[in-house]
Amino acid sequence: MMRIYNTLLAILGNQHWWPADTAFEVAVGALLTQQTRWNNVEQAISNLKNKSLMEPEKLANADSEIIEELVRCTGFYRQKAHRLIIMSEYFLLHGDAIFNRPVEELRKDLLELKGVGEETADSIILYAANKPKFVIDAYTRKILNCLGISGNYSQLQHIFEAQLDQDVELFKEFHALFVEYGKQYCLKHRCEECVLIGVGKTLI
Ligand code: SF4
Repeated sequence: MMRIYNTLLAILGNQHWWPADTAFEVAVGALLTQQTRWNNVEQAISNLKNKSLMEPEKLANADSEIIEELVRCTGFYRQKAHRLIIMSEYFLLHGDAIFNRPVEELRKDLLELKGVGEETADSIILYAANKPKFVIDAYTRKILNCLGISGNYSQLQHIFEAQLDQDVELFKEFHALFVEYGKQYCLKHRCEECVLIGVGKTLI
């Protein structure tokens, strides 16, 4: 597995994810990034910050129509505004103490929030709580599939968590590299240049 990581790192370099000022901002970004591009999320985050709403208390108590306008650029804006309010209420209720909880308890809580699926919950756990949970996204699934590895979310996640050191920074960088490779190669159909597929399973 580290051979995949080192191969990606060699061609893409460090990605330094996740750009955010606070853990709450990471969580907001994780919700907003569903079904949209990151530059739209950046715009929405900037809009929320400009209105001083990037805090659980302020966002939880903001007018939903105002939030909708601020996050409109990310698509599904009514749904996302509603979900942001619910998540803000959760952060407001529990405070930063949520990040001191055991990973599986935190994950269970997050998954109970409306609109938070496994990828979003694990992104929050990894990038906001700084706990080792490997994130499986569509690009990771696609790349693994090309390497002859398939499975459901939990099965794919287990492959990484079982084989890698429980190193938060490694998990962060690895996920970011998969996403970047997916954008630069898979999405652009640069399969003839693929540095992973030729080696296939021997990389793992
Ligand atoms: S570049 Fe093409 S072959 Fe390589 S992992 Fe992506 S989709 Fe698969």
